[in-house]
Amino acid sequence: MKLRTKIHLYSSVLFALLFIMTNLLVYVVFSTMTLQQQQSRVESQTNKTADNMRQSSADTSAADLLRAYVPVEGMIRIVRETGSNTLLVTSADQQQLAERPVSYLEERSAEIITYNQQRYVFVSVPVIWNDGQVVDIQVTESLRQTEQYLNALRIVLLIVTGLAMIPVFLSGHVLGRIIIRPIAAITATMRDIRRSGQFQRLTVPSPSSDELYEMSATFNSMIDLLESNYDKQKQFVSNASHELRTPLTIIESYASLLKRRGMNRPELFQESVEAIHSEAVRMKEMTEQLLLLARHEEQWNLTVETVDLLDQAEQLSREFDTAYHRRIEIRVAPELQRQPALLSVQTDAGKLRQMIFILLDNARKYSSEDITMELALDHAQRSEQAAGKRQTAAAEPNRCIKIIDRGIGIPAEELDKVFDRFYRVDEARVRQDTGGSGLGLTLARRIAEALDASIRLESTAGEGTSAILSLPSAPANLPAFSANSN
Ligand code: ADP
Repeated sequence: MKLRTKIHLYSSVLFALLFIMTNLLVYVVFSTMTLQQQQSRVESQTNKTADNMRQSSADTSAADLLRAYVPVEGMIRIVRETGSNTLLVTSADQQQLAERPVSYLEERSAEIITYNQQRYVFVSVPVIWNDGQVVDIQVTESLRQTEQYLNALRIVLLIVTGLAMIPVFLSGHVLGRIIIRPIAAITATMRDIRRSGQFQRLTVPSPSSDELYEMSATFNSMIDLLESNYDKQKQFVSNASHELRTPLTIIESYASLLKRRGMNRPELFQESVEAIHSEAVRMKEMTEQLLLLARHEEQWNLTVETVDLLDQAEQLSREFDTAYHRRIEIRVAPELQRQPALLSVQTDAGKLRQMIFILLDNARKYSSEDITMELALDHAQRSEQAAGKRQTAAAEPNRCIKIIDRGIGIPAEELDKVFDRFYRVDEARVRQDTGGSGLGLTLARRIAEALDASIRLESTAGEGTSAILSLPSAPANLPAFSANSN
């Protein structure tokens, strides 16, 4: 059964039941009250009649008395204990009542009876008659008029129920349509997307706070996200293939050169092998970086341990000096000199080194003077925390590792873009001079996120760049931390 039919059916049936129950209750309460009222009326009337008859029985004949008190639609009779000498008077249209069997009742009684498929109020009051005997004065009064009223009420209630069902039926139909329309629109759009392969949006009417509007808006934002991810992916694949094609072309051209003239010109051999080797190394590095970027953080197998930042800095400085003959000056802020314990943090040592390495390597590539590595507390991060902008689990301030170079710098308008994949400032010169891939900072930022850290750049073109790494004393988002720190 379709959802629309279900909504329609359930709402109509529910409302119909509700109406029927309400009207039934109204009818039952009203009819009971009316019949009780009629019964008490006849009862008090009969009491009054009995009193009057007792007082006037001496000088008026019993038949006259009965005629005076006979109800408009009914019968009055005097019943003796023996059941004989019964006197009765009926109204003109209730003569059949005279045939109703006589019964003498010792007690006062009042009830509703059915005789010849008609309902009557029957009241019997015992009185002492003028001859000293106890007799019953019995009044039987027809409820025909009351029943006519109740019938009319029944019909009115039935008509009201029927009429009320029309808007209920229509509203169920409308409700079904209102709810189904956006769902049907989403389904149709999804089908269109599948058929055409194009991302499409729903036309969302005026903004409102209802769930259906929210559902359509959420669908559209989900499609936005999917489209932007898809575009990024496409961009990434085309960039990656473009980036890999360049070294491959270089390798191929040097290889063909070697094939053609390598034997005859040994000087070409040296140059070609070097070019092939350096391009192969670059390709390998790029592929590794790409693989790491493509992997989910959970697959990185991060292990959190206690790491001494000064130790790491000194080790990296030595390595850089050996490999590139570049001096890295290490400075430790006075507050950390006073409290060396603050130089220890809980983090993944390997990933931290990889991140610092990328920043140092950039400083090396884009400057020629000495590089400075400064260890301090990150007060900027602490003031952000105080202003409530950022929530970190650690109460301690973040540690700050600042890598300062006095090189070519980055123009202000490029500062945000350098974190994008494959983005390089002044592409041609940089690639030729340094062999960079444009993936280093992207990877560094990904690692930083995984370690609950952050990286920002401050730079002045032509003067130099500072890469600031803000590291928490312990990462809040790594499950490995809780396991290892116990
Ligand atoms: P690459 O492998 O090209 O260095 P990165 O992602 O590490 O890739 O850097 C992106 C771009 O940012 C670099 O190509 C360079 O133009 C610029 N850049 C990064 N660090 C520095 C720096 N310390 N000084 C000057 N420019 C830098």
